[in-house]
Amino acid sequence: MARAIHWFRQDLRISDNPALCAAVRFGAVIPIYILDEVNAGDDAMGAASRVWLHKSLQKLNESLQGKLQVFSGDARQILPELVQEWQVEAVFWNRAYEPWRMQRDQEIKSYLKAQSIHVESFQASVLWEPWTLNKPDGTPYKVFTPFFHRRASAESTLPREPLPCPELCFADIPAGQGIEALELVPNKDWAQNFLSEETCGEAAALARLQDFVQNGLSGYKKGRNNPALPNVSRLSSALHFGEISPNQAYHAACVCDSPSDVEHFQRELGWREFSIYVLYHNPELAQKNFNPAFDAFPWRQKHPKLWRWQMGQTGYPIIDAGMRQLYQTGWMHNRVRMVVASFLVKNMLVDWRIGAAWFWDTLSDADQASNSASWQWVAGSGADGAPYFRIFNPVLQGEKFDAEGDYTLSYVPELQALPKKFLHKPWQAPRNVLREAGIVLGEDYPNPMIDLAQSRGSALEAFEMMKMQNS
Ligand code: FAD
Repeated sequence: MARAIHWFRQDLRISDNPALCAAVRFGAVIPIYILDEVNAGDDAMGAASRVWLHKSLQKLNESLQGKLQVFSGDARQILPELVQEWQVEAVFWNRAYEPWRMQRDQEIKSYLKAQSIHVESFQASVLWEPWTLNKPDGTPYKVFTPFFHRRASAESTLPREPLPCPELCFADIPAGQGIEALELVPNKDWAQNFLSEETCGEAAALARLQDFVQNGLSGYKKGRNNPALPNVSRLSSALHFGEISPNQAYHAACVCDSPSDVEHFQRELGWREFSIYVLYHNPELAQKNFNPAFDAFPWRQKHPKLWRWQMGQTGYPIIDAGMRQLYQTGWMHNRVRMVVASFLVKNMLVDWRIGAAWFWDTLSDADQASNSASWQWVAGSGADGAPYFRIFNPVLQGEKFDAEGDYTLSYVPELQALPKKFLHKPWQAPRNVLREAGIVLGEDYPNPMIDLAQSRGSALEAFEMMKMQNS
């Protein structure tokens, strides 16, 4: 029987996996995963993502009856060697869109084809291929709404229905090294309890999707702004690693009988698509300002209090809650991501790339397209970015979206006894109120590390300077 390799990459699932289905149709399958940090270079995964990947690969291997073969190194060398050693006739994979992956995959495809190996790649991680839509004038979209409208409104571009699981038949190959050999989990305390086994993998992702559709999607449009409510899917890591596909998420949502919530959820999936689209058309998105006018912006490359932002010790409770949530769990709610990012790039004037690098290391959903596009969106330098003068006030954001403190207090418990009206501005509480709550500011909880009004003024001044330099 002919042998085919299915190369798992960002599609760590069996269901709705077009390349795996094609491999099964071709012959006996050899499923492989290659941790390719050689070609990734500076874009290699951060610590939190590596732990997620480890657990996800374990789950995938269970679904593959222990047949997953894992390797570490340069995929350009490893794949041709495997093809030869196992006498494989075909190689299948689902496409990925980071610039380094696209370049590498192209090289591998050309090489294998020249060796008369059948190579085929498929669309599985996006609803729409990023090269398939431009504005009527032929240039790529820079604004989300018309991009999404054109995608989602036409019958011809409706996302396809998910595919069922294929009937797997494996080639008889000696077992390889275990997933531990990839050394994805560092020997550090945080990594041991970081993610439970139940969080990662296809079955967990499908269960979470079901649970969200039944219990969280109705009310999504409004509730998604409140970090304490269960109205977001928390599927971002599963989508990044391909434990579920965007098609599965898009179609599963349709059973909910609240059309405006369904539409809004599909629109957020559309933001993921837009980020991939923008990265595809701007391969340097992670390094360079999308809007070059921002090259003249006086970003700070160093800040003596950066560690306080990273560790959730800024003295602004909603920011500290978000940054602690990120460090402890590898995930942060979208509303809070926007607030903490705005604080870093606008109140602290720190370069968005420094914030993006911290997120890259600590998010288990770290994704080159979404992370770079979102940081640039907050910084004002991005495609369809927030206007620079829109500076989130963490006190008002906290009071508006977490008035009761259900979210904030779960990560900043030291403020538990503070009356709610001071929760997001503890420094304004009278001394006796602080005393009664058992809080000494500067000891039990930090004083605010930056003056909001003053730093807002400096940010707007810096923006004016940038505009003058560009005029
Ligand atoms: P839901 O609200 O349930 O949305 C469903 C899915 O839609 C998400 O899982 C995600 O895949 C997609 N999505 C939702 N909002 C966005 C958005 N604004 N941009 C792109 N896709 C979106 N998302 C990442 O997946 N990886 C990142 O590295 C990342 N970095 C970010 C950095 C900053 C500064 C900001 C402001 C946002 C970032 N986001 C990133 C986008 C967004 O915060 C997360 O996708 C979202 O919070 C994930 O939670 P969820 O799965 O519950 O989202």
